[in-house]
This record gives sequence, structure tokens and C-alpha cells, in this order.
Amino acid sequence: MKLKDKISVVTGGASGIGRAIALAFAQEGARVIVADIDTDGGKETVEMIKKLKKSAFFVEADVAESASVKNLAEKTIERYGCIDIMVNNAGIEVFQRLAETDEAMWDRVIAVNLRGVFLGTKYAVPHMLKNGGGAVINMASVAGIMGAGGLAAYNASKGGVVLLTRNTAMDYGRKGIRANCICPGFIATPMVTSIMAMPGADAVKGQVIGLCPAGRLGKPEEVARCAVFLASDDASFVNGHALVVDGGMSAGWEIEVEKVLGG
Ligand code: NAP
Repeated sequence: MKLKDKISVVTGGASGIGRAIALAFAQEGARVIVADIDTDGGKETVEMIKKLKKSAFFVEADVAESASVKNLAEKTIERYGCIDIMVNNAGIEVFQRLAETDEAMWDRVIAVNLRGVFLGTKYAVPHMLKNGGGAVINMASVAGIMGAGGLAAYNASKGGVVLLTRNTAMDYGRKGIRANCICPGFIATPMVTSIMAMPGADAVKGQVIGLCPAGRLGKPEEVARCAVFLASDDASFVNGHALVVDGGMSAGWEIEVEKVLGG
């Protein structure tokens, strides 16, 4: 029970990593506000939490819209009275090279992935300050620390998330708020499976797995366990950190050393 009675908000909680975090938080004793634009998926996550006999409710929210995120914070306060943990997880991806990136799509990716993190933090922080502190966890990506072909807008947005996280740690660390981000590699969620379903993607599936020493995609639950750590007192001295959760993908390059050294 590392998060007993903590009030936590998880954006993008209807699917993938966000759903896994919502469930892991509930299992650790937190009360969870699931926020998403996907109402059906969000309510389904809440039902899954209620089956664990834990407390949760759903708020429809578009993280790119100021009024919507403000409403999310207000609904949380109305119901539970405070915000202890804010997980800015909602995100979208578009697979296009820079010159072909549609400008409206660029704006939307930046709005959801970066402005969404800004707004989620902006509206949670005043409540955390009233309460003497809290934990902000932002979902960045290895694409926030490495370039990735075909991901111009996504790369830019996630690089921004890493530094916005460090800014939050600087602005509020002395007031009891810890802000950290997670940089997942390839995780088996609808975001990745939809890219893998694109025509021609079969040719690169092996490459994607081959990039990772773990030899497989990560599981949403493996990211969720790291979010529990960052949200909990176990991480009481961790602030402004970008935690890479990628099975070793960004650790360096690999050659077949056996061919040189034998063994
Ligand atoms: P996912 O399964 O697609 O889940 C994302 C959720 O966010 C969906 O329910 C989506 O709703 C929702 N969403 C999209 N736009 C939103 C908005 N404007 N406001 C509120 N909710 C919104 O993706 P995921 O893989 O779990 O990704 C979660 C986070 O992890 C994202 O920030 C992503 O960039 C990051 N990440 C993922 C991976 C990976 O390999 N999966 C790797 C690195 C980082 P709809 O389905 O209706 O769009």
C-alpha cells in the first residue's frame, strides 16, 4: 500500500499505459480520477478499479483544452478535496517525416503532448501547494531524449516534456512538489499496434524488436510499476529525473561481439 489514500489523477487513463497506471495506483491504495477523451474506455477503467473494491471516477477531459483541464481539477477537488499525484500521460503520435508533416497535425501533437502536460501541471500545482506538496509524473518517451525517424512532431513534443518536467522541479521543488518523467521505449499498447498495422510496417517489426536488448516490447504494467515508485515516498529524494523504461534500447549500440571475441 505505497499510495494509501493518495488522491491521484491519471490522464489518458482509458487505454494502454494510463490504464495500467490507474490500476496499479488503485492496487497501492490510491483513489484514482481517470481522465480521457475516450469516455467508454475511461469508464471501463473505472469499472476495472471498482472490481478491485477501490475508489475511482471518470472525468471526460481533453488535455489540450484549458477549460477542460481546469474542470478536471475542480471535479477532483469537489469529490476528494485535494490532488496528491498528477500523472500527465495522455498523448498521441503521428508517423510522418518533417517536410511532410501536416501543420494542423503538428499543432495537435504539440497541443496534446506538451500543452497537455503544461495545463495538467498548471491546474494541479495550486492544489498541491495548499496541501504542502505532491508528485507530478509526466509521460515523456525515449523519443524525448533521442531522435527517431518519422516522428518530427512527437520528438519535439516529448523533448519539451523532459525539460518542462525539470522546470517544474525547479519552480516547485522547494515547496514540496516532486516532478519526474518516464521515458518508455516500445510498449505494447494501441499506440504502437496501430503504427505496426500501417501498410509496410511488417518490414520493420523485426527491427523494432531488434533495437531492444530485452528482445521484446515492454508491457504497460512495467511502466506502471515505475510510476508507482515515482509517486511514492520511495522516491522522496528523486526530483527532475527522466526515468528511461525501454529494456535497454537507448543504452548504446550493440554489435555481435561474439563474432570478434568468440563465446
Ligand atoms: P494509447 O493506448 O493510445 O492511450 C492514450 C490515451 O490517451 C487514449 O485513451 C487516448 O484516447 C487518450 N488521449 C488522446 N488524446 C487525448 C486528449 N487530448 N485528452 C485526453 N486524452 C487523450 O497510448 P499509450 O501507448 O498508452 O500512451 C500513453 C503515453 O505514453 C503517451 O503520452 C505516449 O506518448 C507515451 N509513450 C508511449 C509509448 C509506447 O510505446 N506505447 C512509448 C513512449 C511513450 P483515444 O484513444 O480516443 O485517442
